[in-house]
Amino acid sequence: MAHDSYWEKEIELLPRTELNKLQLERLNTTIERAAHTPFYKTRLGKRNITSLKSLRQVHELPFTTKQDLRDHFPFGFLCVNPKQILRLHSSSGTTGNPTVVFHTRQDIDTWSNIMARCLYMSGARATDVFQNMMGYGLFTGGLGLHYGAEKLGMLTIPIGPGNSKRQIWFMRQFKTTAIHVLPSYALRLAGLLSEMGISPQKDLTLRMAFIGAEPHSREIRLKIEELLQLKAYNSYGLSEMCGPGVAFECQAQSGMHIWEDQFFVEIIDPDSGEVMPDGEQGELVLTTLTREAMPLLRYRTRDLTCIETTPCSCGRTHRRLARIKGRTDDMLIINGVNIFPIQIEQVLMRIPEVGTNYEIHIDKENYMDKLHIWVEIERQVSTGAPHQAEFLQKKIQAELAGEITVNPEVTLVGAYNLQAADGKAVRVFDHRNEENK
Ligand code: ADP
Ligand code: ZN
Repeated sequence: MAHDSYWEKEIELLPRTELNKLQLERLNTTIERAAHTPFYKTRLGKRNITSLKSLRQVHELPFTTKQDLRDHFPFGFLCVNPKQILRLHSSSGTTGNPTVVFHTRQDIDTWSNIMARCLYMSGARATDVFQNMMGYGLFTGGLGLHYGAEKLGMLTIPIGPGNSKRQIWFMRQFKTTAIHVLPSYALRLAGLLSEMGISPQKDLTLRMAFIGAEPHSREIRLKIEELLQLKAYNSYGLSEMCGPGVAFECQAQSGMHIWEDQFFVEIIDPDSGEVMPDGEQGELVLTTLTREAMPLLRYRTRDLTCIETTPCSCGRTHRRLARIKGRTDDMLIINGVNIFPIQIEQVLMRIPEVGTNYEIHIDKENYMDKLHIWVEIERQVSTGAPHQAEFLQKKIQAELAGEITVNPEVTLVGAYNLQAADGKAVRVFDHRNEENK
């Protein structure tokens, strides 16, 4: 695929100085628009801000948090006449009560266009047959890519998630070349294919997968690529900004370009709120630059990442986000040691005998935290052969202890024996507070 092919060449290659100029202009329009809501009117009023003279002043703007959105549910952040709202979406409520996001016609059009930009950037073309396995409905994943894919001109199959046998049937009937799928579901699908004796290489025509909506390690991506015989591109987004389409991987697959003509990006220290330089890990903070119905200033995503410092080989000037490490509230504290679930995943998925799923359980025993990890192993590794299983279990335990400095108990289970969630994967079960209930 030609590397010098762009959906919107001029904007994707816009020199940084011009991009910054455009950002400042759009930021000031956004501030003006946002000031119509009581929330921003008060917050901006307190700081005496009506517009900014330079992007260096962005840190003077107030942060917006998920709690602010909840506190002003449902219409507190709406900036347009309700008659202008075309659609509402709601976040999946992974971490609490849902919040609602509104879109005008222009918001939907802009979103579809940046989504098409993302898909085109990864190498998708109008000749592709696209099977969208993400949830349609309030969740933004399904409709977000659907509109982008149609804008690009792909034959779009709005199948939604689940019913794996039907998914496979459609793939074979219509020669699907591209799929949009949760990483955890992609792995389950791969399991079913192998159970049914279907070879992705010989019997299917898949060439690319767009994976996102949940944290996943590089190792999981590689596993998906190998098992399904395709290239998997990381897709990042959140309902509050629009949904998917915020940041996406190009064909270089080395970080996700975030569309800086649409979003102003900052990385902050989650504790102090200080802005951090590129290359340093912290919490991603985003400001919408074109949204009409519900502009948000300095929205704290709680997602941990950093901005890549090297330019991308594709030539796009929009900077790249590194793989998301998790949310600030995903961090587990086990006997005083901070651990992110993705660190455990990385270790597990590097071990060839490990299968595609795992669960992390934390209990309290004699006032101490106890970490217990259940690990699916590959079908060809037998849990019935005591020596082989014991050896593998010790090996997993040692590799985990080396990485996370906590010694976990490890239990091996057969391939695809762990329960998989219907939507975003749920792999962490913290039982520590249950005893107090
Ligand atoms: P909820 O916050 O209820 O899960 P959303 O559907 O809006 O609702 O999910 C957005 C969140 O999903 C992001 O803030 C991030 O935590 C996670 N996410 C989305 N895409 C990715 C990705 N590619 N990698 C890791 N996490 C992701
Ligand atoms: Zn690139």
